Order: sequence, then C-alpha cells, then structure tokens
Amino acid sequence: MNLSSDCSQGRLLDAKVIAAFGRRYLVRLADNSTMTCLTRGKRSEVVCGDIVKIKRTGQPLPELVTNSSTGLMPDTQGVIESTTPRSSLLHRSDSFRSKIIAANISQIIVMVATEPSFSDELLARCLVAAYDQDLEVLIVLNKCDLSDSAATARKQLAPYSSIGYRVLEISAKTPSDSSNNGTEERMVAGVSSLCPHLINHSSVLVGQSGMGKSTVINALLPDAQAATREISSALNSGKHTTTHARLYQLDNNSSLIDCPGVQAFGLHHLSFGRIEQGFVEFAQYLGQCRFHDCHHLHEPGCALRNAVETGKIDARRLALFQQITTAQY
Ligand code: GDP
Ligand code: ZN
Repeated sequence: MNLSSDCSQGRLLDAKVIAAFGRRYLVRLADNSTMTCLTRGKRSEVVCGDIVKIKRTGQPLPELVTNSSTGLMPDTQGVIESTTPRSSLLHRSDSFRSKIIAANISQIIVMVATEPSFSDELLARCLVAAYDQDLEVLIVLNKCDLSDSAATARKQLAPYSSIGYRVLEISAKTPSDSSNNGTEERMVAGVSSLCPHLINHSSVLVGQSGMGKSTVINALLPDAQAATREISSALNSGKHTTTHARLYQLDNNSSLIDCPGVQAFGLHHLSFGRIEQGFVEFAQYLGQCRFHDCHHLHEPGCALRNAVETGKIDARRLALFQQITTAQY
C-alpha cells in the first residue's frame, strides 16, 4: 500500500478555475497541471477566475486521456470543496435568475464594433456592472478598417470618452498597425495595441456576438482555438457543444477571461441608487433634484434633466438610464 499517495488524495489543493461547463470545471494547479472537477451539490456557484480548494478523487476518465498538443488536457479528476472569497464578481440577472460571469477580475473590456451596429444600452449596462464591482473599464471599438461605418460608431461612443472612459480603436483583422489601404489618412491599430492594456490585469472580455471577440482572441492567442475545442470536447464529453467562458493566463500577473457573446445584461441584483451611481457623470447632480425620490423621468425640478438641457449630460445617456430603470433593471 502506498501511504503517501493515499495522503495526497485527501489533501486540499489550491487551484484556479480556467473553464466552466455547467457543473464541470477545468482548474489549473500551482504546478501548472490541470484537472477536471465537479462541485458538490446541485447548484453550481463556481465561475471562471475563482480560486478554489480541491480534493483529488481519482484518475481521469478514459475519454479524457489523450495526447494534447496544447498541454491543456486534464491529468486527474477532483472535487471542488470550497471557493476562496472573491475580490470581485461580475454577474448579470433578470427577475428569474442570476448568472455569474467571472470572478476576481480587475478590468472589464467591452468590445463593440463599427458593424453590425452595437447596443449602447448593453454597453451602458456593462459599465454599471463594472462600477458596482469597482472594475477598470476599457471600451474597444473593433473593425475600424471599415471606415464607412466607423464614423457612426465613433459618434455613438463620443459621450463615453468625454466622461472619462478609455476607448481603444482597433482592427482585429490587421495584425499590426497599418494605414487603411491608403484610402484614409487615419492609422488603424492592429490587435497588438490591446496588449499593453492587459498587463497586470485580470481582464474579462465581453461583447455581443459578431463584434469580433473570437477574432481578437485567436489573434492574441494562436493556440486558443485548438485549446477551446479540446476542452469543450473533454468537458462536454460528446454532448452538444456550446461556447463557455475560458480563462487564458497571459503571464504571472495577467489573465484574460473570454465570455460567450452576451446579448442581454440584466442588473436586477442592483438597487436604483446603485444604477444612478453607475452612470458616473450623474454623480454631481445626485441629491440635487426637487424630490428626494426623483426617478428622473417627468418630475419637475429634476437636476439630471436640467443638466441635459444645459448640455452638461448627454441626452442619450439619460435616456439609457430611464430605459434601464423603467425596465426594472
Ligand atoms: P464574435 O462573435 O464576437 O466572436 O465575432 P467573430 O470574431 O466571429 O467575428 C464576426 C465577424 O466579423 C467575422 O466574419 C470576422 O471575420 C469579422 N471581423 C472580426 N474582426 C474584424 C475586423 O477587425 N475587421 C473586419 N472587417 N472584420 C472583422
Ligand atoms: Zn431627478
């Protein structure tokens, strides 16, 4: 009997969740090896980016033992025993359910594109969620090589840069900076211009589908596609493959969580007051309305509506706030 291996089976190990597929998770251990894990209990409250304590339960399922070109195939199996308290948690919710998206992140990168047109309501919602969790924000406008539609998108984003959000224009299809076929004077930045913004951050990349998220990930991380295919076939074990969140470790201090395309971002878990604060440019006007419970809709003496009238607040931003709050978040 091998006592030491028996002991090591019972020991709790620290690990980071790098992929989540329903109740099955892929975690990375301190020595860089990976393991597939299940959670105990029915409801799964573990998410990509979580730091967890796991217990080894046995050898891998036969279907998981294959040769891997990416080194991501799990070696053994385990159970997630506990989750370490999170520094941040991004979630979205409607009145029926709440969905956790990513944990322990320091930055949210919201990707929009020049075409197809993007939802500025979704963008505003992401920014409120970011404010609530104290995350840094980077807005990336992709497909800037499409100069005809770029002008419209820039106009749509102008209110965001003027209230202090960083907006980075890129073209994921352009490997390095280049002028736009010589047809436009403006230089188009390639995907590599994103790299400096990722350093020393745990970022989460969100966006509607079609914005070019996969193109960006594949350009930044050439092995990503193969690794994702491998993981989905391993963890789904033959089941219908849908896209799931994935964490890519970029270096010791930098990582990137790629989320499946997000089409809705409910903020049901937040209060009216928290959403007011999440519209960061409203700050100096909050508490200035005639009625202390002003909903900033039709009430007389509304400081926010006055600020719109005097050009201090962008009208579209107040309209988005009204849209979100009248939709019960
Ligand atoms: P995702 O749904 O966000 O993952 O989007 P994809 O990466 O699948 O991209 C959607 C479509 O946009 C694909 O046809 C891409 O080839 C195209 N696309 C992505 N990035 C760019 C870009 O920078 N410029 C142009 N012109 N097309 C792009
Ligand atoms: Zn008001």
